[in-house]
Amino acid sequence: MKIKVDERLRIVLWWLVLLVAVALGFGVTNSLKRSIERSSFSDISIAVRSKRSDIEKDLNNAVSYLSLLGADETEDGFFRGDDKKFAFVREQLRALAVGVYDFEKDEINLSLSESISYGENLENLKTIMRNACSRDSVTIIKDNSFLESGDLGTLVPIKNDSDEAIGLSFGFFSIEGFASKISESVYNGAGYCLLTDSQGNVIVPSDKFSLYMDSANAQNDLSDGEVSSIFDNLDSGKFKRFERGGKRFYVYALALEDYPDYVLVAVIDGMSIFKNLSLATRGVIAIVFIILAVTIVQSVYFFTTIKKRKTEFDDVLNYDELTGLPTKPHHKNIAVSILKKAKGNYAYAACDVSEFKYFNSTFGYDYGNLVLKYIANVMSDALLKDETVSRTSGDHFAMLLHYNDPDDLTSRLMHILDTASVLPVTDDGRQPRAVFTCGVYLVGNESDINRIRARANVARKGLKKSITNQIAFYNEADFNTELEIHELQEDLLHAVDNKELAVFLQPKYGITNEEVIGAEALVRWNHSSKGLLSPNVFIPIAEKIGLVKEIDFYVFSAVCKQLNQWKAEGKEIVPISVNFSRVHLGDDDFVAKLIRVTKENDIEPKYLEIELTESAVYDEMERLLDIMYLIKEAGFGLSMDDFGSGYSSLHLLREMPVDVLKLDKGFLDDCSDDNQREKKVISHVISLAKDLQISVLAEGVETESQKNFLQEANCDMIQGYYYAKPMPMKDFAKYIEESGVK
Ligand code: C2E
Ligand code: MG
Ligand code: MG
Repeated sequence: MKIKVDERLRIVLWWLVLLVAVALGFGVTNSLKRSIERSSFSDISIAVRSKRSDIEKDLNNAVSYLSLLGADETEDGFFRGDDKKFAFVREQLRALAVGVYDFEKDEINLSLSESISYGENLENLKTIMRNACSRDSVTIIKDNSFLESGDLGTLVPIKNDSDEAIGLSFGFFSIEGFASKISESVYNGAGYCLLTDSQGNVIVPSDKFSLYMDSANAQNDLSDGEVSSIFDNLDSGKFKRFERGGKRFYVYALALEDYPDYVLVAVIDGMSIFKNLSLATRGVIAIVFIILAVTIVQSVYFFTTIKKRKTEFDDVLNYDELTGLPTKPHHKNIAVSILKKAKGNYAYAACDVSEFKYFNSTFGYDYGNLVLKYIANVMSDALLKDETVSRTSGDHFAMLLHYNDPDDLTSRLMHILDTASVLPVTDDGRQPRAVFTCGVYLVGNESDINRIRARANVARKGLKKSITNQIAFYNEADFNTELEIHELQEDLLHAVDNKELAVFLQPKYGITNEEVIGAEALVRWNHSSKGLLSPNVFIPIAEKIGLVKEIDFYVFSAVCKQLNQWKAEGKEIVPISVNFSRVHLGDDDFVAKLIRVTKENDIEPKYLEIELTESAVYDEMERLLDIMYLIKEAGFGLSMDDFGSGYSSLHLLREMPVDVLKLDKGFLDDCSDDNQREKKVISHVISLAKDLQISVLAEGVETESQKNFLQEANCDMIQGYYYAKPMPMKDFAKYIEESGVK
């Protein structure tokens, strides 16, 4: 699966961008917030300061006019002032009432606007004058107990020459009039002002303020206590933040300059300050969301692409491109999981199309592929639930099938194979048939597929070639043989180096005088654990793994060395024949090697005879003849071994320059006393060979009657247990001495 690097990179980049955007968003929002807060605070403080100076101007104005009232001190005291003057001041100040109060006399002189009356409240006013005011500085009070329609009073102390307060001049103003200036909105209607005393008691409230305080907390009006808790401990010139009803407010307090006991307080709705910020924040959030959306889309696309590609990749890995069947490893996984949850019995069938290459070579590769697809279809169509089939390699198919009864399984399998045998029609209208060999292993309580498959294959390999479909069930003995062969193969690789091979000699006898005229070298394998092994067991394995050449030359050298030694010891020597596998025929330097070994051991080639088996004849006749001539030319004896064991062709004898024809033991086995036909065949083969100047040796002579028959039939030489079994080389010299050499 290939995911391009830039695709991964793009996703990582998108997520990075998203992270950066979020971080920036936070950063930007925060710094925006700070800067908006800073600039709003400065705007607010400017607005409040200007309001303060307006208010103080008015207040100073009122204080100066009111001071005028206390300036007219008479001998009777100051309070009997000029009514006109009182009226003038009241009008100038647009006050509801102005007047003076004499502390000593506890008397009040006042001028009232025509529209109001104070009724019985004069006594209340006196009480206010006595209690609620400072005698040192201007007092601003809010009280309804004197006037019914106005309640804001400004009280200015009247002092004598020794700076003692002797009375108060006062003015009462309608709260709307005087307070409107205070409670006018600041900061574009986002905030409102109030006047409090230094203890936080509200003197001039703001209706608007109460309104939005109420809207923030619809349950109740603000009590005085609540208000003062907000306005208490305000540092002049500082902002304070408070929350109410989930809303945020800012409070900015500014003490009046000339009347420091009074504080102008602005209350600003947090929302209005951050109105712009919330716009900016929304913008940032929108951008972050857009980036998030793009990132998610990209990621989803990326991961679904990966998944899709992974599925495609898995398909390529797990399914055979040609047939669509699970590949061998995938089939193994499927089979394991079926077996693990298996209910009932399962059988593993390994099937092979015999001579499949015939379809390729005769009808072309396309047809060959069609055949494989056809077989795959037939097999997979035949599957039931929880069964599987795979093309394990080339023309090999494996099925894991459920069964109840082995006989039913055989019928079912045979039916599948028979259906698969009838192949599609070729382009030229022919309908070839396939032949299957199928090994079946009945799976027990196990799920090791390699073990299961190996056993099914052992059963399959045990089948001989046939023209009909064949099924063989695995049995343990087959497997053990196979296993043994496998083990021997391993051991054989070291047998030569470990000097485990031994050369035995079996004497050959002349038929007339019955004396030893030569011997055949036969190899044995002294296996470390299995004991002495016959060449029939290990030579086929050695041929398969390419070790036979080494073994043959090992035997040949050993024979040459032994001959050399006997010669050196002054002993009589006889020609010894050595078996050579047909595998040597492919080597150009085969004969050269034979010559070299004889030379190294100083042995004349006439003491050595090369045995080639009859089966070599069919491989490559021309080449065989060439090599035979070279062998003869070099001076070696040459014999044709196992003659009669295969499909011997007598006329070939004419062309082959062999010295000896070795009649296979099988010939003799069929030639009992009452089998005259066979005897005649042997006699004629012998006489034919003799006509061609070829000597005849009979192998495997075990009985006297066999010997007698061979004598009668004019056979030249005899080799067999009747005279002697193969013996170790060192025993052979003694044997000859005792039995005598011709
Ligand atoms: P072969 O060359 O035809 O050897 C004759 C076989 O017949 C020998 O079996 C021998 O022991 C056996 N034999 C001889 N007389 C009798 C008898 O009276 N009765 C019976 N039942 N058997 C008899 P061996 O030694 O087991 O060799 C088997 C085959 O192995 C040989 O058949 C030969 O083809 C092959 N072979 C042996 N040694 C070598 C070798 O060094 N190289 C190669 N390439 N093949 C060898
Ligand atoms: Mg032989
Ligand atoms: Mg033989």
